[in-house]
Amino acid sequence: MITSPAFAGKRYAILGLARSGAAAAEALLASGAQITVWDRQDVAREPFAGRCAIADPLTLDLTGFDGLIVSPGVPLNTHPIAAHAARYGVPVLGDIELFALARPALLPHKVVGVTGTNGKSTTVALVHHVLRMAGIPALLGGNIGEPIMAQDALEPNENGEGVYVLELSSYQIDLTVSLDPEVAALTNITPDHLDRYDGFAGYAASKARLFDLQSPRGLAVFGALSGAAGEIFRAQQSRRPVGRAVAADVAALADLQPGWPSLQGPHNLENAALAVAIAEELGVKPAQWQHAMPRFRNLPHRMERVCEEDGVLFINDSKATNTASTAPALAAFPPHADIHGGTPRIHWIVGGLAKEDGLGECADHFAAIAAAYTVGEAGPRFADLLDGQVPVVERCELISEAVRRAREASRPGDVVLFSPACASFDQFRDYEKRGELFRQLVGVIADCAVDCTPSSLLGDDLR
Ligand code: ADP
Repeated sequence: MITSPAFAGKRYAILGLARSGAAAAEALLASGAQITVWDRQDVAREPFAGRCAIADPLTLDLTGFDGLIVSPGVPLNTHPIAAHAARYGVPVLGDIELFALARPALLPHKVVGVTGTNGKSTTVALVHHVLRMAGIPALLGGNIGEPIMAQDALEPNENGEGVYVLELSSYQIDLTVSLDPEVAALTNITPDHLDRYDGFAGYAASKARLFDLQSPRGLAVFGALSGAAGEIFRAQQSRRPVGRAVAADVAALADLQPGWPSLQGPHNLENAALAVAIAEELGVKPAQWQHAMPRFRNLPHRMERVCEEDGVLFINDSKATNTASTAPALAAFPPHADIHGGTPRIHWIVGGLAKEDGLGECADHFAAIAAAYTVGEAGPRFADLLDGQVPVVERCELISEAVRRAREASRPGDVVLFSPACASFDQFRDYEKRGELFRQLVGVIADCAVDCTPSSLLGDDLR
């Protein structure tokens, strides 16, 4: 775990003892801090019995506390804890801020922070992979995999290189005040998580803070430049020296992309361009990233190739929980002119718990769809929207029914694409469980060999 003399003798209260909160508590205890922990669930409090104070910070006099650490899952816009901490002038922080405070005592290293609505995980996993293949020690943390404070600090290589690659959600940025990453990147911004913010502007402002925290000497890299992302890009250009706020060069990589099987689709070209800009800033040479990119295996549930059976490709994109992440998946499979004379080939399984009223940018790609199979709570509404817009609409409700019908209707060269554009919570615990079910169904219904072991957040090559 990461410990630091910076915490010795300090007083912290910790609210929320899920993975990142428990890791923060352990790291603070091991660093000699005095802590008071709380979680509304007994089982989460149990490991701390007899080891530190246990009390709900809402009931505490916080005078003299150095900080209140809250889990990113606590909605600060509605939870009373923010006002309570403010009354005592105590800062509300997260585990990424603890990492920032611990940095001065760590061995020489650099930090990469990646945020955005979609593409964060793919981009950080790719940066991590490219760095490691180039011989630079790298560790992946933040909103992905193991909590950062639970991981062992990096040992730099003989050149003194070592990189912490952090995926940062907007909630984590909200709880961070002193992180100054050497490289920060924004993939894109589209409406999401609006229940936690004062509208879209509030959500975009949260992402923008990552770049305001960064010193102007650091590099800021931008993927999409439309709308709110473009505004942040221009604001950062004006506060930095020339060349320290840059757009990822997508066009330069287009010719190489066909050789990268796990990075297909226009969205992944953008993620790849971000990763290349980040890696080059950290000293990786073109020959090194060009060697690494074809060897990257994407994380599960993101445009994951499940199997190809009788010429039909089955793709699990269960992580696509909004329309902006499904749109590029639809764009990744244009009609195959040479096979069916330009007819569309995507059998699109769509639906779940909708986050938006309509199908957003997906509408730009309806011409690529041979048939749509609607499922879940949003299914009937999506079916109404799609009727007359795509050649066939099948109302299925269950994913099993959708896979069965898609299998029957598909011909060689077609793609069965499960990219739901919705959250999973109407029928599943999370998108991973939903993607695992899809894989299993494909294995049985398409009668092909599928790896059905539950997948963790990290691909095998990253564990
Ligand atoms: P995040 O960690 O930001 O949720 P992921 O890399 O896990 O991002 O991808 C989430 C979903 O968004 C997947 O369905 C993926 O195919 C899609 N996606 C990935 N990169 C992008 C991008 N740059 N723009 C739009 N959608 C993307």
